[in-house]
Amino acid sequence: MKVAIMGAGLSGLACAITLEKHGVTPAIFEKRSSVGDRFVNAEALLSLFTRPVNDCIASLSEHHGIFLHPIASIAKMTVYSKHEKVVLDGQLGFTNVRGREKHSFEAQLGRQVRSKIHVHSEKTYEELLADYTHVVLATGDSDYAKKNRNFREDLTVSIKGATVEGRFDPYEVKVWLDYEIAPFGYGYLIPFSEKEANLVIAIPDLPESNMDMEFLWSLYYPKVQAEFQQELPITDQFQITGYPIGICHSGRVGNTFYVGNNFGAMMPFMGFGQYAAWMTGIYAAHDLCGIGHYEDLTQPIRQSYENSIVLRRSMEHLSSESLDVIVRNLNSPWGKKLLTSPSLNTLKIASYLLRPFIRQKS
Ligand SMILES: Cc1cc2nc3c(=O)[nH]c(=O)nc-3n(C[C@H](O)[C@H](O)[C@H](O)COP(=O)(O)OP(=O)(O)OC[C@H]3O[C@@H](n4cnc5c(N)ncnc54)[C@H](O)[C@@H]3O)c2cc1C
Repeated sequence: MKVAIMGAGLSGLACAITLEKHGVTPAIFEKRSSVGDRFVNAEALLSLFTRPVNDCIASLSEHHGIFLHPIASIAKMTVYSKHEKVVLDGQLGFTNVRGREKHSFEAQLGRQVRSKIHVHSEKTYEELLADYTHVVLATGDSDYAKKNRNFREDLTVSIKGATVEGRFDPYEVKVWLDYEIAPFGYGYLIPFSEKEANLVIAIPDLPESNMDMEFLWSLYYPKVQAEFQQELPITDQFQITGYPIGICHSGRVGNTFYVGNNFGAMMPFMGFGQYAAWMTGIYAAHDLCGIGHYEDLTQPIRQSYENSIVLRRSMEHLSSESLDVIVRNLNSPWGKKLLTSPSLNTLKIASYLLRPFIRQKS
């Protein structure tokens, strides 16, 4: 068996490490000059979205022998709507860094891989398919899945982010659910450290939303500055438009495996995709090593995606005022329990409750 992995990101590297543990040495092809050679941003893993796995970093090391060090555990999350705010406490998840940084998740995974990573790769999928018995598509986009007619695109999103300087609590993340600043989307602040944070707005590309990111940023940034009572000077910026979110029809077609965002790792509700990215990589390796079937193993991820799209569609039926009502209710003891209790699968419960409402609207 000769396995090629196209893309040295979260899913591709998790796949490679798992294959190696079972005695298979894959060839890894990365188009960039090194692992993680892209803009730096802070990301989060929220237990809320990975349940029933509550601590996905512990689970990764205990069950799969892969070790990741986040920036910090999240002990506090403040959620703002237009007029309301709720503060959640507990063991809520982790923050981590991505991209061109020594401690980025992909750099950490890269250091655990022993197989050769061919950088500056210009190999196409077709070339790899001709030279290898199996190809794992881990390119972080859905281009090949779309080209192979194996992808259902549900939406695209636009994202604008900046690195800001200031004084932050590394154990706290902040989220803004206010449609005046992020129509049908959200804003968030994730600290890199006590002195630096990532400030982002992400909105779905909908005909009815105001898509002028510069205008939205001009509303969002002063709001965050006022909340922190700090200037928060910007030291770096990035912008992404038309980022596709969808899911493949089949995780495995012939001897090709679709993993990470090629599979549909990025969850439509709030764009979380890291956990599903590395799990699909691991599951593809399990299938290749004959210890499971990829389609069966990925079924819970597929179900999470479908639950998540229900939440996304419900977001599109809400207004800033209804978000105020939701956030006010989350301030109640049962609201906080729903979000923070390790034993509740909040995504599943919320999508179950909202499904009839979405059907009625559509
Ligand atoms: C701005 C932003 C913020 C996000 N925030 C969060 C968050 O807070 N929490 C969360 O869980 N998720 C978040 N996500 C989603 C998460 O980052 C992705 O779902 C996850 O990284 C997908 O992993 P992957 O392995 O599919 O792709 P990646 O980790 O992106 O890896 C893909 C790799 O393939 C390489 N590649 C691409 N094309 C080729 C080619 N033709 N040949 C060879 N190599 C190629 C790339 O250079 C890259 O190294 C965010 C995404 C974005 C864009």
